Amino acid sequence: MDAIEVGVLGATGVVGQQFVSRLARHPWFRCTWLAASERSVGKPYKSVAPWKLTTPIPGGSAGRIVEACVPGKGPKVVFSGLDASVAGEIEGAFAKAGHIVVSNARNFRMDPLVPLLIPEINADHLKLLGEQRRSKGWSGAIVTNPNCSTIVLAMALAPLRQFNIRGVVVSTMQAVSGAGYPGVPSLDILGNVVPFISGEEEKMESETLKILGTDGGRVPYSAVVSAHTNRVPVFDGHTMTVSVAFENKPSIEAIKEAMRTFAGKPQELWLPSAPQPPIVVNEEENRPQPRLDVNLGDGMAITVGRVRECRVMHAKFVALGHNTVRGAAGAAILNAELMHAEGTLQ
Ligand code: NAP
Repeated sequence: MDAIEVGVLGATGVVGQQFVSRLARHPWFRCTWLAASERSVGKPYKSVAPWKLTTPIPGGSAGRIVEACVPGKGPKVVFSGLDASVAGEIEGAFAKAGHIVVSNARNFRMDPLVPLLIPEINADHLKLLGEQRRSKGWSGAIVTNPNCSTIVLAMALAPLRQFNIRGVVVSTMQAVSGAGYPGVPSLDILGNVVPFISGEEEKMESETLKILGTDGGRVPYSAVVSAHTNRVPVFDGHTMTVSVAFENKPSIEAIKEAMRTFAGKPQELWLPSAPQPPIVVNEEENRPQPRLDVNLGDGMAITVGRVRECRVMHAKFVALGHNTVRGAAGAAILNAELMHAEGTLQ
């Protein structure tokens, strides 16, 4: 199969770097176009991307000249790691001009005509694309992936839908890489916990119900989610403690078994970025931990541990996922892989 050419909007950022790194070793996609702000345009990628990954900058991208985010210039398929302050306007213009935009940004996530996709959970939400094109007059399309905490929560809850979830209380411990670069000042975060992340609680509470919902997410899942979000001095990996109440209370073993055996389209189709299995249930008493577990499944698996009875709700557990991989670039690449496998990418 010939490689599919792709580009990256916001290629210099924390998420953009994950795109560049993962696309350099992708079996289907070839990254041939990098774009960012006026600050970076016309300069070699390596001189404007403050590279923070432990793997080297891919040779094919290091010297590539960064271009402006102008629609019509790059490949048809573009991944977006754009800052939310500009993503709405730029991604909309790209979709209008015929590009397929596979985005991380929040701007279009709650649009009723835009799939908020986690391929293991709601691959059928891609059916919105036909109506999206007709209603918005776009010759291209936009598909989004969830907020980096929401994706961990939604993945852990998806196998539990069979027990009719009614209420969820979640408290996060979120890594600094989730705030982009340079992100939270060191004097604010070192040796500290910051109990506020702007807009994050609202995103977790609304996006989760769209993802688990039906009719492309237009009928939200019928449950209530209450989120507390906190920034902690961890480099990568969002950890969260979750308590869940059900209509039909399952046993703890039934919850673990549902999580262990959970799989979806990516696993069935053996998509290149699909973790096998997508949820790892760790039985050790003090796991998951970001430093030890964040890279499971090449950063694409969610780890769940300490599944036990809750004396207020019914069950509680800890969940962890890699925020810039499963919560951002890796998720978007998996979305594009599913779209390619289903014939909606080209
Ligand atoms: P970041 O490190 O601040 O990177 C932002 C990117 O946007 C940079 O490439 C920047 O280019 C570009 N940009 C800024 N202003 C621009 C403009 N006016 N025109 C064109 N490009 C512009 O942020 P990030 O953490 O990678 O996050 C990127 C997006 O992904 C955000 O929407 C964020 O909410 C979302 N997200 C992030 C995470 C995470 O864990 N970090 C997870 C999920 C989703 P320059 O370098 O040229 O300024």
